[in-house]
Amino acid sequence: MGELSLEQARELLLERVQRIEEKEEIFLCDAVERVLAEDVIAGHDQPPFPRSPLDGYAVQSEDLQEASRLCPVKLTVIDEVDAGYVSEKRVERGKAVRIMTGAPIPDGADCVVGQEDTDYGEDIVEVYERIRAYENYCFAGEDYKAGTRLLKKDTFLGAVEIGVLASLGREKVTVYRRVKAAVLTTGDETILPGEKLSDGKIYDSNLYMVTARLSMWGVQIAGREHVSDNAGEIAEKIKAVVKGADIVITTGGVSVGKKDEMHEVLRILGVKRIFWKIAMKPGMPVLCAEYKGKLLVGLSGNPYGAAVNLELLVKPVLAKLSGREDMRLQRIQAVSESDFSKRSIVTRYVRGYYIGGMVRIPEGSDASGVLGSMCGCNCLIEIPAGTLALREGDKVWVVLL
Ligand code: AMP
Ligand code: MG
Repeated sequence: MGELSLEQARELLLERVQRIEEKEEIFLCDAVERVLAEDVIAGHDQPPFPRSPLDGYAVQSEDLQEASRLCPVKLTVIDEVDAGYVSEKRVERGKAVRIMTGAPIPDGADCVVGQEDTDYGEDIVEVYERIRAYENYCFAGEDYKAGTRLLKKDTFLGAVEIGVLASLGREKVTVYRRVKAAVLTTGDETILPGEKLSDGKIYDSNLYMVTARLSMWGVQIAGREHVSDNAGEIAEKIKAVVKGADIVITTGGVSVGKKDEMHEVLRILGVKRIFWKIAMKPGMPVLCAEYKGKLLVGLSGNPYGAAVNLELLVKPVLAKLSGREDMRLQRIQAVSESDFSKRSIVTRYVRGYYIGGMVRIPEGSDASGVLGSMCGCNCLIEIPAGTLALREGDKVWVVLL
């Protein structure tokens, strides 16, 4: 078993990558989950004009000093203004403008009385409530003022940020380009979905799982192929995809079997490995190298091993490349609702389901070749090296997926 810890392995990769600085201007509707590459300054007040927060009458508060249900104040309604329109009238003493939510408050008025505090009068309105100056009055710039820096460069754009950019009238926005990854899976035994299963063959789940996960992290798939167990062919494929990718991820062929050709691939490419094997289970046999300035990350062919490596080793690298703070690993404490009786010689990661401070291990095998029991799981339970068994009620650390 290799002595390199997961943290050390991660560091060895992280120190070799730089955050991507290339930018591109894209439409706002495509910008969700991208990283902003500009400071965004408000070009106008939001809202740009004082507006009414409710349906009612824009009036002068002075007129309502004595208003009550017993002694209503009568005002002359001189105009009506809907949202999206402007009243040209000025509200003088004794006057009112019927106003709808979102409409600009006309000149002269300093408050709005809600319609439920009136008799809904059309020409003359009776007001039953005293309203103070600037009550029910949204100031121009209530949300933000012109000149305010609303979003900083490097901000991850979620739905709210997209909404704020839209409120500014931005149709396009400058973001960093996405990370590009090429994914190659190896194995003479693996065939692609759509083909007919025959003796000795299994379907290639890694190609789909890995690319699906990368897509979820906003990575652009710059190549996606299954290659047979032939070192020469794999090396050729890597040469072909490396130019258009920031990182090349392979699965399979990283153990010590006769057909574990990734070692030979590195020889053909003329590169030395950065490391091979991490003291963890699953995902021990990882083989990493640098080729033409790009990382080559060779994951185990075992789907669960590959999934764990992808989360714990590759994701932080992608986070650094893309400048996505939100992709940092989230490690939290939980209480186990399950027993896990296998001994852990090295740090072990067990698939789990976390909710409300509790974590549960699913039924079925936790073996590195087993993917099915991971369906619906949302975390990896970290079992420290040297642990004899995990017991229900034990405190554990979990990494959220
Ligand atoms: P390897 O790492 O190539 O020695 O493969 C380890 C185990 O994972 C073997 O049982 C393989 O058949 C299986 N395996 C390898 N590649 C894939 C794949 N792309 N999809 C599903 N299983 C795979
Ligand atoms: Mg193989």
